[in-house]
Amino acid sequence: MSAHAFSTAGADYCPFMPVFGAPSVMFERGSGTELWDVTGKRYLDFLSGIAVVSLGHCNPAVSDAVTKQINTLSHVSNFFANPAATKAATDINQLLHETSGQWGQVFLCNSGAEANEVAIKLARKFGGRGRYGVVSALGSFHGRTLAALAATGQPAKHEPFQPMPEGFRHVPYGDLGALEASIDPSVAAVLIETVQGEGGVIPATTEYLRGIRRLCDERGLLMMIDEVQTGFARTGEWFGFQHAGIAPDVVTMAKGIGNGFPVGAAWARRDVAAVFQPGDHGSTYSGTAVAGAAVSAVIAEMRRIDAPTLAREKGEYFAQKLVQIDGVEAVRGQGLLRAAELGPGRDAKAVFTALLERGLVTNAVNATSLRLAPPITTPLEQFDEAVDLIAGVLAEGVGL
Ligand SMILES: *Cc1c(COP(=O)(O)O)cnc(C)c1O
Repeated sequence: MSAHAFSTAGADYCPFMPVFGAPSVMFERGSGTELWDVTGKRYLDFLSGIAVVSLGHCNPAVSDAVTKQINTLSHVSNFFANPAATKAATDINQLLHETSGQWGQVFLCNSGAEANEVAIKLARKFGGRGRYGVVSALGSFHGRTLAALAATGQPAKHEPFQPMPEGFRHVPYGDLGALEASIDPSVAAVLIETVQGEGGVIPATTEYLRGIRRLCDERGLLMMIDEVQTGFARTGEWFGFQHAGIAPDVVTMAKGIGNGFPVGAAWARRDVAAVFQPGDHGSTYSGTAVAGAAVSAVIAEMRRIDAPTLAREKGEYFAQKLVQIDGVEAVRGQGLLRAAELGPGRDAKAVFTALLERGLVTNAVNATSLRLAPPITTPLEQFDEAVDLIAGVLAEGVGL
């Protein structure tokens, strides 16, 4: 399968730090849902670079906007404004207003972890001295920088890097009583995913999310929603929180916001954002013009095609086909953020490997399930093609 293998010594040893495991395929080119590796072999991308390329690879609307901007103005620092970043922040704020009924302000950054760092600093400033705690869920994923890692509810990921920053506690996902019991006067905020993506594509219930909203209101805490994976139409709504009909205080975004251009954002209700003063946060690349152009192009294109409706309808179509496959025990998720549960007797990694060999990119999100998050622009025939490939591999008994 190895389209490109790195040796461990000599001139062609792997130039990357060994944090990602051995790469098995090297992709050279993409268009829509299709990818081609360096040998010219074609694949269907049902992972989208982990829910990033939601408008398909090399979407012309995004590529044109980025190309035009980089040929006009790329970067001027935060001492000055530029029209592209200003428009991006305005577009994000407009989207949050339409979906949550609130106006706010935006900090542009480069990744999901950085967006969560903003949320955590905002919570600490909002809480004031002695009130700095952030409660998040076990099984959650919030990023790899130290504070985002501390918020991530996966103790095994903390272990090699102890001591973690202080002020983080974790409670079982979905257990409102445990969340309530964890709140003491040192807690300033709750940070939660509406669907745990890295945790296995586990959606929160509406009652749980509404319960958190009520608790935060009663105790004066910020409800901060990590929409890095769920945001930008992925789940069949612009944001995951819309499924529960709640209005968060802080929303973090990345992945789908740039369709592959590295950009993230933290949004906060205006009175919450107002606790920040000049000097409290920053980043050289905050509001760089090219990233701004990518964000505005993504939002405009998603509005034009009504991406939330497409994700909802295609997600239903896909889930119904998946659940009929012999060997798929259940299908989880919302919209086009899905997991096919293969059951305890099946090794999802082996299934992933066999699918990759046959030209379908997926992800073994845990030991027994496959995460499927294709571009929202994927045509129905390609859903059928993917379903046939999965059915074929499972019928052969791969992973049993
Ligand atoms: C991917 C992800 C992050 C981290 O984003 P990076 O861009 O990798 O830093 C944070 N939260 C959630 C929910 C994610 O899925």
